Amino acid sequence: MDNIILQVKQVSKTYRVSPGMFKRKLPLKAVDNVSMSVEKGSVMGLVGESGCGKSTLARLILSLEPPDKGEIYVNGKSFSHVQRKEAARMVQVIFQDPYSSLNPRKSIESIISLPLRVHKIADGPAISQKVSKIMDIVGLSKRMKYNFPNQLSGGQRQRVAVARALIMRPDIVICDEPTSALDVSVQAQIINLLKDLQKEFKLTYLIISHDLAVVEHMADNVCVMYLGKIVEQATTQDIFHSPAHPYTKALLSSILTPD
Ligand code: ADP
Ligand code: MG
Repeated sequence: MDNIILQVKQVSKTYRVSPGMFKRKLPLKAVDNVSMSVEKGSVMGLVGESGCGKSTLARLILSLEPPDKGEIYVNGKSFSHVQRKEAARMVQVIFQDPYSSLNPRKSIESIISLPLRVHKIADGPAISQKVSKIMDIVGLSKRMKYNFPNQLSGGQRQRVAVARALIMRPDIVICDEPTSALDVSVQAQIINLLKDLQKEFKLTYLIISHDLAVVEHMADNVCVMYLGKIVEQATTQDIFHSPAHPYTKALLSSILTPD
């Protein structure tokens, strides 16, 4: 099993939410006893309707929050003993909204190189060189290095987010709704970019999306999440052609359109 890069073992996260002013807080199981394994170089899809706990699971894997229960292993290392900084070397993320995930006051070069500087992996001219190289790989012109996020289009900003995520060569990249905030016309470009990069560099992804077409196009395996639980986990082929769980069937039929 040494080709398993991410292992999530019986992980739970409960929030306390107030149903109203002066009401007692009630527990809300955002992630409920979730387990999954992702093989090196493969793409795992995570689908489920809004609010089912996908982003919460992502934050737990990113070590942005600790789980209440369970263990997360990346490359065999338990994340409960790993510092947030070290975790960031292993797991990187591309968020939905490239407008809010990029610091508007920093140049593109500064944004992409931040992980290198934080981890003291490179300095001076070496940084600039690495940034040029990764910009080329994600399809951004080097001339944009000295631009600021607001001078770029939505698609270009998301390419910056991809570059920043990949520059550290993380073990796994989590893409949380990577195209949901983009115009339809550029969604396919970003999806194809992610897919090409995955193939070329044998990257491992966890792709989170409520858009089943994106997941069907990219993933090797799929987890279906419902109310904090994973109700079905199978190959993409099986999920889309012979779904076993009633919720998966409902999810698939709810998006089927005449075309
Ligand atoms: P998804 O990404 O699938 O849309 P989320 O993981 O964002 O779902 O949310 C799952 C559930 O947890 C939702 O009911 C949401 O309101 C709740 N939730 C998420 N984060 C918090 C938080 N920090 N505090 C309280 N409740 C939260
Ligand atoms: Mg979400």
